[in-house]
Amino acid sequence: MKKIRVAVIGAGAAGLAALRQLSKYDVFQPVAYEIERQVGGTWIYKDLADDFDPTNINLLAGQSTTSSPPPPHCHSSMYQGLYTNIPKEIMAFPDLPFPQQLPSYPHHTDVLAYLRNYAHQFKLLQYIQFGTMVNSLSRQQIEDKSSWTLTYTDLDSKETTTTQFDAVIVCNGHYCKTSYPDIPDLDQFPGAVTHSHYYREPSIYKDKVVVLMGPGPSGTDIAIELIDTAKEIYLSCHKQPAANLPSKIVVKNTITKLHSNGFVQFEKDPQLVKADCVIFCTGYGYEFPFLTPSCNVTLENQQRRIRPLFMHIFHIDHPTLSFVGICAKIVPFGQFYLQASVVTSVLLNQTPLPSIDEMERDEENDYQDRLATGLQPRHAHFLGVRQWAYNDRLATFINVKNPMSKAIEKTYKYAMGWRQNNILEYRHQNYRIIDEDTFEHVNACKN
Ligand code: FAD
Repeated sequence: MKKIRVAVIGAGAAGLAALRQLSKYDVFQPVAYEIERQVGGTWIYKDLADDFDPTNINLLAGQSTTSSPPPPHCHSSMYQGLYTNIPKEIMAFPDLPFPQQLPSYPHHTDVLAYLRNYAHQFKLLQYIQFGTMVNSLSRQQIEDKSSWTLTYTDLDSKETTTTQFDAVIVCNGHYCKTSYPDIPDLDQFPGAVTHSHYYREPSIYKDKVVVLMGPGPSGTDIAIELIDTAKEIYLSCHKQPAANLPSKIVVKNTITKLHSNGFVQFEKDPQLVKADCVIFCTGYGYEFPFLTPSCNVTLENQQRRIRPLFMHIFHIDHPTLSFVGICAKIVPFGQFYLQASVVTSVLLNQTPLPSIDEMERDEENDYQDRLATGLQPRHAHFLGVRQWAYNDRLATFINVKNPMSKAIEKTYKYAMGWRQNNILEYRHQNYRIIDEDTFEHVNACKN
């Protein structure tokens, strides 16, 4: 039987999920391309180059203002003290739990070890070409089908190779292209300006007045990391932070201006703050530098909306091009697993996609529904509370039991609530999934 050649771009958690599903069927011949020398993506911690000053980024040029440019490939935002922000009991892929001896909130090195073990256990390494970077992907129409031409560079030999695929799954991650708010005269500010992407450890902020912007998990976690080091900490937020913060972290409104005399101005606030450093924890945009115009993928809404996509996965016009891992504010690994199962099922012709008209309507309805419930255009792929219905939909679509059980949903909701009220200590809580509907928790401090 003729094999279906499938390219997977990236071998982080999403790429591994894709390979895991494809490898279950002999008919697929998968090849994954990965810039790094190991699996894990985001979870591969990297020091910044010695001569790279992480507090001095020229935001306008997207380059370091020091004599040397940033490290050539700085994919990961991991910092030394990062522990997971969701319990391992719900974070794991459905087919491999984290080791029992780990606490519910493991260190980032444990997550990397887990992903390496996942690849090893399910014999996925054989499909991955490490040290290769995909440079371009283009589409040709052959009769009624798309065919995909992929060009990649071997980063050791610098050799470039072009090869053909029947299908492509894009799993290149979306925590790398830093986003900054539109703040006037940003480049006039004399202090250090950086992004949470480049944060590694607290010592360089010793005795400094630090303003962080963005109340998401990175903003709050880094602010807390700085408590014992920085002199003063201000967290600038466009909405109330989702956690009750300790008093040393002073919550401010959105930054409206960085002044050339070092003062930071906040919305509707007469009190300016003289700051040494500003850290933008303002998220990331999507980027697919390898997609050529023939793929017909567009990025809208400040690079936060990918179109045209059905169920945040399939290119509506050319569905042999798919994306795993696009959604944000989710329990990622389990959802990647489900998305990859859906892609595999469609490629196997086990599950038919709706007509193009229906998929377009579905995409538009999903987007309009977000706007109607108060989400911003840039939240086109945010799920949050929607993730459970979305996961159910994926499972129903391919007629399988949803591995993201009610117990996972309940644990997530409980753990998030607990975090909100116990931001300094929430990681002391340990969880256990009892059955599909029930979980239990114990406070590790009380044992
Ligand atoms: P990535 O892990 O980014 O992997 C993408 C891979 O694609 C990379 O290895 C990259 O090298 C490769 N690649 C990119 N472009 C190319 C190319 N052109 N050619 C070849 N290869 C390419 N999730 C949790 O579940 N729990 C947490 O506690 C948690 N904490 C987080 C903390 C931080 C600071 C961040 C940034 C994220 C966190 N996440 C957490 C989310 C995390 O990103 C996801 O769990 C998941 O690891 C994302 O996997 P991915 O495969 O989509 O992307």
